[in-house]
Amino acid sequence: MAYNITLIPGDGVGPEITEATKRVLEATGVKFNWELGEVGSYAMEKYGTPLPASVIESVKKNKVAIKGPVTTPVGSGFRSVNVALRKELELYVCLRPCKTYKGVPSRFDNIDLVMVRENLEDLYAGIEYEKGTPEVANLIKFIADSKKGAIRPDSGISIKPISEFRSKRIVKFAFDYARLNHRKKVTAVHKANIMKFSDGLFLSCAREVAKGYTDIEFEDRIVDNMSMQLVQKPQQFDVIVAPNLYGDILSDLCAGLVGGLGVAPGANLSEDLAIFEATHGSAPKYTGMNKVNPMAMMLSGVMMLRHLGEKDAAQRVEKAIAGVIAEGIDVTYDFKPLSPEKAVGTSQVADAVIKKMHRA
Ligand code: NAD
Repeated sequence: MAYNITLIPGDGVGPEITEATKRVLEATGVKFNWELGEVGSYAMEKYGTPLPASVIESVKKNKVAIKGPVTTPVGSGFRSVNVALRKELELYVCLRPCKTYKGVPSRFDNIDLVMVRENLEDLYAGIEYEKGTPEVANLIKFIADSKKGAIRPDSGISIKPISEFRSKRIVKFAFDYARLNHRKKVTAVHKANIMKFSDGLFLSCAREVAKGYTDIEFEDRIVDNMSMQLVQKPQQFDVIVAPNLYGDILSDLCAGLVGGLGVAPGANLSEDLAIFEATHGSAPKYTGMNKVNPMAMMLSGVMMLRHLGEKDAAQRVEKAIAGVIAEGIDVTYDFKPLSPEKAVGTSQVADAVIKKMHRA
């Protein structure tokens, strides 16, 4: 049987790492029917939209996709394709495991934690009011009239909605994931001391959900303290659950703890759909250079294989990647900080992983 999978190469370095990942996944012997989904700047040029409806339909039909990163123009241009995909498909979970592989240049060597990030609300909701518009003036007047405070008239405003339903849903996912994966603790991250009605709501929802999981330890941390503790003593954490923005920032921090974005995989999940993608972005300055590390996307592919129930293939790919990292020869520049001239390129990493898999 072949799996129907939507393959979204993205833009920037996306197509290169997607090709490398596709080759590795195919080398497992598992059969795939890839359905191409073009998004981002290439789709903009070809179809006049960065997110054609056909891509959404393809993911809905196939239920599983693997995706390269997509550039989001800063300040102007089209809105984030990534955010739009998550919203359109109600992909409410962003799941990002961070673990150290032997041989990765990093400060710590025994980290194994999982970030569970809420994907649909918070400051990421995209509800924004531009400086100088009548809408922002109305909002500023409303806030002043309701005696909530004075906002300067030359302000732009971004709204931070946090709901009871979505907070409970993401925390429940974190606990269920912890239980299923034999993990011991869930840490909820917030800034409830300052944002009482948004982060405060998230925290009270987390506490309530935690009551239903007496077999798993629960604790909470204020996000600034959490950042410091993650840098100083990351081993104390297991599963971390956070609203969207803190989850976004802490995911990159956690990636940094385990050797960088080159080995940080991820998945965006709904009740029945899954899009697997690396934590990193499109690294535009390296586009077409066969330079960046494809392992984060390959490890996202490992997550996809597990999701499909292909546990043996997943294990083989992960072991081969770990082997290539441990040898430290066929690795990209990010794993060769002291001798970057000895680094290999994206496609050579795929060759090395495939070779290792076949030798095992
Ligand atoms: P980025 O993650 O693309 O790159 C930051 C830096 O990290 C790079 O310059 C590079 O030095 C390093 N890096 C990233 N991926 C690497 C890899 N695989 N191997 C080795 N080094 C790697 O972050 P950015 O520069 O802030 O964002 C670039 C674009 O990507 C932006 O438009 C942003 O919006 C977008 N983005 C997309 C996604 C996504 O598609 N899911 C996620 C994050 C950012």
